[in-house]
Amino acid sequence: MTEIATASPASKAKRPVIEVRNPADGRVVGTVADESAQVVAAKVAQLRAAQPEWEAIGPKGRAEWLRKLQDWIFDHAETISDVLQSETSKPRVDATIEAPFVADLIGYYARHAPTFLADEHPAPHSPLGKVKKLTTIYRPYQVVGVITPWNFPFAMPGIDVVPALAAGAAVLLKPSEVTPLGGELLVRGWQEIGAPPVLALATGRGETGAAVVANVDYVQFTGSTRTGRVIAKACAERLIPYSLELGGKDPALVLADADLDRAAYGVAFGGLLNAGQVCVSVERVYVEAPVYDEFVAKLTKHVGELRQGADDRGYRYDVGALANAAQRDVVQRHVDEAVAGGARAVVGGKPTGVGTFFQPTVLVDVDQSMSCIREETFGPTLPIIKVADEEEAIRLANDSVYGLSATVWTGDRSRGERVARRLEVGAVNINDAAANLFSFALPMGGWKESGLGARWGGPNGVRKYCRVQAITAPRVPTQTKELIWFPYNKNKVKFAMSVMRAASARGLRRFGISL
Ligand code: NAD
Repeated sequence: MTEIATASPASKAKRPVIEVRNPADGRVVGTVADESAQVVAAKVAQLRAAQPEWEAIGPKGRAEWLRKLQDWIFDHAETISDVLQSETSKPRVDATIEAPFVADLIGYYARHAPTFLADEHPAPHSPLGKVKKLTTIYRPYQVVGVITPWNFPFAMPGIDVVPALAAGAAVLLKPSEVTPLGGELLVRGWQEIGAPPVLALATGRGETGAAVVANVDYVQFTGSTRTGRVIAKACAERLIPYSLELGGKDPALVLADADLDRAAYGVAFGGLLNAGQVCVSVERVYVEAPVYDEFVAKLTKHVGELRQGADDRGYRYDVGALANAAQRDVVQRHVDEAVAGGARAVVGGKPTGVGTFFQPTVLVDVDQSMSCIREETFGPTLPIIKVADEEEAIRLANDSVYGLSATVWTGDRSRGERVARRLEVGAVNINDAAANLFSFALPMGGWKESGLGARWGGPNGVRKYCRVQAITAPRVPTQTKELIWFPYNKNKVKFAMSVMRAASARGLRRFGISL
């Protein structure tokens, strides 16, 4: 950590900052404050004060502001890509996807949040309930804390900030200390459009994240399973709700009837997009024996042709760097342990020697016990296992503590759906990779140790940031007293019970006759 003087003339004190580095060459591309728990608490208090007005303008009023943010994002898309490349060294294409992705999500919730959050009037469960008007309303939590990882520095914050704002909550965003500049830009955009002060930024490391958890009313966390457990405990202590999107070890099942060219291209993209640093990355591949050799040959050729390097605005490379040296070391360990156990890297298998780049890698002769199959790698590796048949593919795919998503490659769509329904994961893409991420009407949520709750998508994507309030009101003129109010009386209660029985029992029991 380095120290810089504060801008405030009132204080000559130094304040701690975090340097943000480009992983390709190590140069410092920015700094952010390492904020204390006191600073976080003060920000939450300001957000709490601003939130009631934000809630009061309703979903349509909020959609207007979100649309302005969308305009800002489209107008600043190039700048956003530049900043993202500076802090991640990802290829221009990977950086370019993030801004329109968030803008598209804004459009979805701006259009649909008014319907998703509209009051509901459920039918009463019994004819006796018809005297009441029943209403459920969605009222937001006041302050939502959004804590994000480093892999998509603009999209990860946007995915959670947008629906939480649409729900009527105020949001404190704590982006990763490794890549905080994308999240900082999102908050700057909100400020530049002159929007109400219901979105703020908290920068810092884990301690700052813990302070967010200690102060907000709801936590949306995306990151490692390890940190997710820490946050779940802290939320349980405070009795506040939370939603977790965690690690993954997504299997690809390549069945013998698949279009092998598409499967090879799709698995390569699914596993190597963003250098494999995607939660739903293909991290292990199970191939039916009859097509194993042909599939491996096609995948190896394709991966071997990918271009890797530090991209600029020229769209020259396919695969970029890893976020930091620690991440590269995890990838190296998984490859080394696999090779030590008898696996072979048929392409790649080493760091390039520049920055944190690691070669796109295909591993064969892998077995289910290896770390490259059991632990999350979050890097550009594709370990492949030959399986006898569909049954074995399903069994091995489900043999994991993780359950984020999976892909199935087959020429028979009904077979694909049948296999999908047996996989223990939150999403399955048939003959495609990451397609569920671009289908905002679907929930995105991990099973098992990959998460709790769903992160975004569909009506629950905004309702999750709300408390549901139930209201009953009379539909008919009321008496001075209801039948069962005080004073108690045997005849009154007997009458009330017989009416309830008539309304809820079946057959002769309705009339008090038991056979
Ligand atoms: P991480 O868990 O180390 O950090 C994530 C965030 O949590 C950071 O902002 C960090 O500062 C903060 N944090 C750390 N300790 C904290 C604490 N005690 N309290 C509160 N906040 C704390 O994860 P990472 O290394 O930045 O990201 C990689 C991980 O994220 C991988 O496991 C990946 O699978 C996962 N991920 C999941 C998804 C998904 O949608 N499922 C998406 C992207 C990444």
